[in-house]
Amino acid sequence: MTYHSGRHFLQLPGPTNTPARVLRAMSKATIDHRGPDFAELTHRLLEGTRRLFRTEHDVFIHPASGSGAWEAAIANTLSSGDRVVSFEQGFFAQSWAKVARRFGIDVIQVTWDPRVGVIPAAVLEQLEADPSIKAVLVVHNETSTGVTTDIESIGQAMRDSGHPAMLFVDAVSSLAVTDLQHDAWGIDVTVTGSQKGMMLPPGLSLLAASARAMDAHATATLPRSYWDWDDQKTFNERGFFPYTPATNLLYGMEEALAMLDEEGMENVFARHDLFGRATRAAVRAWGLEVVARNESEASCAATAVLVPEDHDADAVRALILERFDMSLGTGLGPFKGKAFRIGHLGDLNTLTLLGTLCGVEMGLRLSGVPYESGGVDAAMNLLSEDVGR
Ligand SMILES: *Cc1c(COP(=O)(O)O)cnc(C)c1O
Repeated sequence: MTYHSGRHFLQLPGPTNTPARVLRAMSKATIDHRGPDFAELTHRLLEGTRRLFRTEHDVFIHPASGSGAWEAAIANTLSSGDRVVSFEQGFFAQSWAKVARRFGIDVIQVTWDPRVGVIPAAVLEQLEADPSIKAVLVVHNETSTGVTTDIESIGQAMRDSGHPAMLFVDAVSSLAVTDLQHDAWGIDVTVTGSQKGMMLPPGLSLLAASARAMDAHATATLPRSYWDWDDQKTFNERGFFPYTPATNLLYGMEEALAMLDEEGMENVFARHDLFGRATRAAVRAWGLEVVARNESEASCAATAVLVPEDHDADAVRALILERFDMSLGTGLGPFKGKAFRIGHLGDLNTLTLLGTLCGVEMGLRLSGVPYESGGVDAAMNLLSEDVGR
């Protein structure tokens, strides 16, 4: 391996940069996961997780990447043959639907333009057509496209409709990035993973479940073992887990929660919002297009940038990695080779973002993609107007 001086720029939409404070916290010695110190840690983390999801109900922490939380949500609340609705929002929405299908769930796959967010009317159309629908699966921030869906409005519309379907939300790249309120928005199951806004390495999946989801759990008959919420609750109440948990990731999680508290969630959200706007200002100035069609739905976690036809987005990424030691996200699904993704979530500041955008601008220049210079300038203008960062 060639030595690279300085810090590697990990500007993927996850995993994100793990702060030194979190890494140090994780380097503590592993303790007895059935001992008294561990029990206190568990109680603090469950409390912190509730605050993060904005819920007073049940939360669960499993050792798994985000996909594990997808499975836990389905296995705990549904029965074989149950019908759920999913929209073709992008790679992650479709991957979640695939998990459901593998469990024998009857997934209604609604054709959807991945460049726009799901709208309440589209959800209602499905619900009105079928009173038997058990759940609606929506991705809050579809990381493959950089398009955000207005979950609050969907939750409101579903409650107003009186239809009994539950609302399941994938918040893997939106929790601790943008506002999400599990209880107030009427979400039944929210799922997330550790390696995005939470600034941890991959390996933890977190869920919040409403009282309605816990009722569904009581009668749901899909087989479940590792993910079973009854086992989990019984042990969690005493501060333990039904298996050996990922102790050192949990140390890191406590530190990450402390960091989010110190910054203040409102500031965390405002910072991500600003970085999203600055990134899109740069893309516009380059004369390129983002995948998100509406500015109001453009993600503050990641920006997918379309490269002009006849150019390969992955070649641009490869060049940037080779020359500037920066990793960007690849295009996923239909955007493979057509778009690259800039991650701007987690532990980063103004200069990290500007360094990232400089790397992209130089990469465009060197790879022969037609673009106009001035993207970094546009971002600098926007970022220097914002006070205090
Ligand atoms: C990252 C991500 C996931 C989970 O992927 P894992 O690789 O299993 O952690 C799920 N949904 C979205 C929207 C994501 O961004």
